[in-house]
Amino acid sequence: MEFRTLALYPFLKESSQFVKERQLGLDDLLKGSMMAEARRRGKARVMEAIRDLTVPNAPVTSEDEAVQEIMSYPYARILVSCIGDDVLVRRYALAEAKAFNERLRREEMTTVVALALELEVEAVHVDDMLRMHFADFLNYTSGLRGPEWKLVNQDLRDGYVQLEKPKFVRVLEQALDDRIEDELPIPVNDELLTAVEKDLEEIAAALAEYKEKYRDDGFGEVSILKFPPCMKKMVAMAQAGQNMPHAGRFALASFLSFIGMPVDDIIKLFCSSPDFDQSKTAYQVRHITGDGYGKKYTPPECATMRTNGICFEPDELCNNRRVSHPLTYYRIKTYDKGREKKETKPPSAPSK
Ligand code: SF4
Repeated sequence: MEFRTLALYPFLKESSQFVKERQLGLDDLLKGSMMAEARRRGKARVMEAIRDLTVPNAPVTSEDEAVQEIMSYPYARILVSCIGDDVLVRRYALAEAKAFNERLRREEMTTVVALALELEVEAVHVDDMLRMHFADFLNYTSGLRGPEWKLVNQDLRDGYVQLEKPKFVRVLEQALDDRIEDELPIPVNDELLTAVEKDLEEIAAALAEYKEKYRDDGFGEVSILKFPPCMKKMVAMAQAGQNMPHAGRFALASFLSFIGMPVDDIIKLFCSSPDFDQSKTAYQVRHITGDGYGKKYTPPECATMRTNGICFEPDELCNNRRVSHPLTYYRIKTYDKGREKKETKPPSAPSK
């Protein structure tokens, strides 16, 4: 592959080979002045993953720049491993996978297939269409909800599922996400920690800021003050690590997604559950929220919540205004808050 392509996909064996040919090792990456740009780019990968759930699209105009860009990937992995935090691993993996998806959508079919094979996804390019072995399709779509991901709804030919490019690429995104999550953190020693400590300080601060932003009542733009009692109760249960029935998890995850909480933060909320299984939770939450691709589930209405025993402590608003859906409760509260603000706003000065 051409050096610009290798720089876009630094996890490829061919990309590592490209760098190996220049006889660059770990010591060069950690300390060498020639690799300062790779370290800068590597740190930027992690910082942007934390802040914006993406990785930078750094320009590559020469082979030397391609080397720096490729080496930024192992450096980023070292930084993530040194921090050793599950939330960071998940966020970083997802950011790399999403950037991969965006880049791959612009590639020729042959490159898409080559990258699929690199991820050990059995794929072929036939008559201008992409096909993936059904076992790989099943493996990586088990976390994607919606009829469009069900095997029975696929065009299955000789054991291969024929897919449109965006869907094919979406499956590969999942494959890369899983791979990075499985690989990280890599083992680190004191020497490694000392070598990167300066960069770690900034990353640890950004991570702490990110976690703080979505802790407690804030939820970023989302305000728990407007939550109906059932959802408040379930947030408290999740934060306290209390076991929650499946129906409760479904209702809470779909509610939070609907009011705009990022998927990653919903997953994080469930981290305190006693039976928390990171990859299973991530799959379940992505199922429910659609994760921008599959079907996005609506939270159940109050009648269903009652039947499932999760209509906790309905308050005056639930009873008086005959709220029939938790989202209606949230909307009424949002509307009331907006009105309160307007009414308490000082009157503007009369024009002269
Ligand atoms: S009535 Fe509806 S909104 Fe109110 S607590 Fe019960 S389920 Fe939640």
